[in-house]
Amino acid sequence: MFPFTLERPGDAASALRLGAAPSAEYIAGGTDMMQLLTDEIRQPEHLVALDGVLDDRIEAAADGSLRLGAAAKMSDIAADPDVSEAFPVIAEALLLSASGQVRNMATIGGNLLQRTRCPYFRDPGVQACNKRNPGSGCAAMDGANRTHAVLGTSEHCIATHASDVAVALVALDAEVRVAGPNGDRAVPIDDLHRMPGDTPHLETVLDQGELITAVVVPPTPAARRSHYLKVRDRVSFEFALTSAAVALDVHNGSIREARVAMGGVGTKPWRLRNVENALNGRADELDTYRDAAEHATEGAVTRAGNQFKLELMKRTIVRALRDAGGRP
Ligand code: SF4
Repeated sequence: MFPFTLERPGDAASALRLGAAPSAEYIAGGTDMMQLLTDEIRQPEHLVALDGVLDDRIEAAADGSLRLGAAAKMSDIAADPDVSEAFPVIAEALLLSASGQVRNMATIGGNLLQRTRCPYFRDPGVQACNKRNPGSGCAAMDGANRTHAVLGTSEHCIATHASDVAVALVALDAEVRVAGPNGDRAVPIDDLHRMPGDTPHLETVLDQGELITAVVVPPTPAARRSHYLKVRDRVSFEFALTSAAVALDVHNGSIREARVAMGGVGTKPWRLRNVENALNGRADELDTYRDAAEHATEGAVTRAGNQFKLELMKRTIVRALRDAGGRP
């Protein structure tokens, strides 16, 4: 581990001042950061600890919206009845993430900012990784790419985004509240993560020193009939090969509004508006789901190892929509 100073600010203003230094990084729950420090993938000169500094409240408002303080633990959010009843897709995505021990430590803010699980990125012995060493190449292009992305890729990086709950939040049009040296701002979560393009080392739109203070989920009738389905190689503590966050507002047997986003297939949590458009206004039935899911792979680019994801994406969406409606 590279040497660094550990800063323990007493309040958010002090944290922002310390975090503005070019060589500073924040640490909250530390579940991802500690791995990256141990493997010397991240090498900050200053680590600014956020424990005790950020809000950890989980608040359901009278208008039906939900506010999650950035320091709220994944396990606490998943166990909150306001979340599991009104936004089941969020609770389910959290419970399918990592392990119970990790969920007890990890914060919602940190979860959204976790780094990719691409094995080449995580292995400092591999030189060719544009995300870790800009301009060095990409070992995954012609290497082991079974788990990699098919949407939003570039010739410089095909790594997937790892967060489950980010997929649910993208489907629900959540907003991320951000504080930084230049003030506060709100970022739609669909805009938080960047596609790799020719700068895969830049993963979010956050500037140096900015941190997430809260996540706000607006009310939507579709949220109550929502579901998160995760397909993975083993039942626990594994990242998604494909996953789907779906939500349906159905009236008189017709779909008034559908929300569909996927994980495990995009370089960022991936909203599938083409699938949503194919669901909206149609009968709430299996044939509609199947027809709409055909749109999921539009624009997909596969590599030698991940072609199987195209069919799996469609099946994941159909099953998630079916399960959200409680159909056999
Ligand atoms: Fe690095 Fe991205 Fe290539 Fe993985 S896919 S080796 S993270 S550049």
